[in-house]
Amino acid sequence: MALDHETLNALIDTVRRFVRERLVPLEARVAHEDRIPPDVIGEMRELGLFGMTIPEAFGGLGLNTEEECRVVMELGWTSPAFRSVIGTNNGIGSQGLVMDGTETQKAHYLPKMASGEIIGSFALTEPDAGSDAGSLMTQARPERGGYVLSGTKRFITNAPQAQLFTVFARTDPASRDSRGVSAFLVDAATPGITLGPKNRKMGQQGAHVCDVIFDGCWVPEAALLGGPANLNKGFQTAMKTLDRGRLHISALAVGCAERLITDSLNYALERKQFGEAIAQFQLIQAMLADSRTEAYAARCMVLDAARRRDVGEPVTMLASCSKLFATEMVGRVADRAVQIFGGAGYMEEAGIERFYRDVRLFRIYEGTSQIQQTLIARNMIRDAGG
Ligand SMILES: Cc1cc2nc3c(=O)[nH]c(=O)nc-3n(C[C@H](O)[C@H](O)[C@H](O)COP(=O)(O)OP(=O)(O)OC[C@H]3O[C@@H](n4cnc5c(N)ncnc54)[C@H](O)[C@@H]3O)c2cc1C
Repeated sequence: MALDHETLNALIDTVRRFVRERLVPLEARVAHEDRIPPDVIGEMRELGLFGMTIPEAFGGLGLNTEEECRVVMELGWTSPAFRSVIGTNNGIGSQGLVMDGTETQKAHYLPKMASGEIIGSFALTEPDAGSDAGSLMTQARPERGGYVLSGTKRFITNAPQAQLFTVFARTDPASRDSRGVSAFLVDAATPGITLGPKNRKMGQQGAHVCDVIFDGCWVPEAALLGGPANLNKGFQTAMKTLDRGRLHISALAVGCAERLITDSLNYALERKQFGEAIAQFQLIQAMLADSRTEAYAARCMVLDAARRRDVGEPVTMLASCSKLFATEMVGRVADRAVQIFGGAGYMEEAGIERFYRDVRLFRIYEGTSQIQQTLIARNMIRDAGG
């Protein structure tokens, strides 16, 4: 449900102040300690950030896609590790449940996810099934009135903190592609689940990722997301979740780009060489102008696609266009920011090299840039009747 104008603006203002006054000063410490202070997570809970996209009926803020994107652009102003903590509860970790869960499943999990009492993770990727997620090998075998899950999930965001996994597993053993896959809601404390060590990553320290291993893990039939009617339809749930998730990541990329552009401009106005501020050099101006233009284009794309989704238009292709452009854009903006800062941009103190590493991930998860290109072209060809 859409918020009224005033309420949305108040929410955006509050988040903006929280991000700039509370989170930005903690960026270096979080990166250094690879940990977000628990009191900050508590404040995020109080602001309702864990439940932005969860319907109000289940205790969330019930933001529509455009509203969510506007708030996420504000969160993008700081290290993306902060956003990652609330990211899965708002995106891939909850939206399958919101879209396809039974009323009982929603009533059981969503209020706790909205409040941040539990963290939900999305377990699709496997060691041998990344971009080709439909080829996943994790098995869900019917047994004792439920299913036994066996298999390994790889690079699962927030898994070390999660209490709930949405797990995609093959329920039709004869199938080899996405058609034989179902989604399960699995309590992280279920016997038969172990976690791998936290992955040591290129960036986004403070956000944690690890393997999740299922070894003879029995779940009741009630764990089948959407109930028996959704048997073998889990991959469709995953793809619907990703439409919205890709817009969320696009909005995040826009927010990060806007921060980097502001930092670059401020530095260019202060830093003097050859007797004047480097902002006066046309070659620096070209970098600033290109970054500003591209970030503006990405902002317009994301908001347009989000509005279309909110009025019920199919946006699979537009979500891919947005993610492809916005995430590649922020990579270029971060690279120019390092260049504008010169040697200081390469050093830890300025924090620019950290953003450069942090934003690199956006081009990889929730579908790589190549997968977005493939999806866009496939949609174009299909629409042309090819
Ligand atoms: C930090 C992090 C967090 C993550 N969090 C989650 C999570 O919470 N849940 C989850 O399920 N997964 C998660 N992932 C997994 C992520 O979604 C995958 O890494 C991603 O989809 C790519 O899969 P892959 O790594 O196996 O690469 P691959 O699929 O092996 O791709 C390798 C390269 O080949 C290219 N390629 C592959 N297929 C094609 C093709 N058909 N055409 C052209 N090029 C192609 C890719 O674009 C890429 O450049 C996370 C990953 C990371 C790094």
